[in-house]
Amino acid sequence: MTNPRTDPPRLTVALSFDHDSISDGVRRGDPPVTLSHAEFGVRVGVPRILSLLAERGIPSTWFVPGHTLETFPDSIQAILDGGHELACHGWFHEDFAEVAADEEREILERCVAAIRRVTGAPPKGWRAPYWSLGSGSLRRVFEAGFFYDSSLMADDYRLYRVRLGDQHSLTEGTHFGPESALVEVPVYWAMDDWPLFEPAPERGRDGLTAPSKALEIWTEELRYAHAHAPGGLLTVTMHPECIGRGHRMAMLERFVDAAAALDGVVFDRLDRYVEAWRARTGLVERGIGEA
Ligand SMILES: [Zn+2]
Repeated sequence: MTNPRTDPPRLTVALSFDHDSISDGVRRGDPPVTLSHAEFGVRVGVPRILSLLAERGIPSTWFVPGHTLETFPDSIQAILDGGHELACHGWFHEDFAEVAADEEREILERCVAAIRRVTGAPPKGWRAPYWSLGSGSLRRVFEAGFFYDSSLMADDYRLYRVRLGDQHSLTEGTHFGPESALVEVPVYWAMDDWPLFEPAPERGRDGLTAPSKALEIWTEELRYAHAHAPGGLLTVTMHPECIGRGHRMAMLERFVDAAAALDGVVFDRLDRYVEAWRARTGLVERGIGEA
């Protein structure tokens, strides 16, 4: 039997779900139809997803805004009962590029406390709502005690350590800050259900992609990572109100089966993959407080 702390699986697939629900709609004051689109996630999407994951014996990671956590406790309990990881995703799904530093700190503390109340332990993971960050946000995420972030795009199948304090100047050039003990789980739009499927006319995006197109992108990423990134991680980002629609669930089933059919592919929670990576790279000895 292999030990993931010393000998990672050929490829790990992490299914991650951003359980936004109505958190951002409440903050924005969205009208009833928009709120109902978000409510589909908690009502229909989550039970469908949990049922698929239970059938296939797949552990996963759920990034949950504090508002969702407190408003839909039964949904959260069902996720925990399935053996999945709970991680943070803002309170009202705030855009951290537009939030002041003090408010960011308060949101992070409130999110950590809310997860701790539900699971009995602080969360390991943070994903910025909208994958949007201000220049000092990740330092505050690190200071709040998180082990990993999952919002950046500088790699695809490999984790890396987040640099803090990069300085860019048109006249003085770029000076990179030191690598911190905050681990990055990289993401990308092509591996996210939202830009593929959800219309956004204000961004000139029609969405409503055929599931065959999304399946082609995801399975080609899967095959490439399996062939060229031994020991790597393929992270998929999904939203219950989006992936939970029938034709997309059918696509997710096919993707999961394609992954399971490849030699040496396992599914895992991000906290476990990150913990094993930290052990393999020696980062586990450094302590979370050390940059
Ligand atoms: Zn989100």
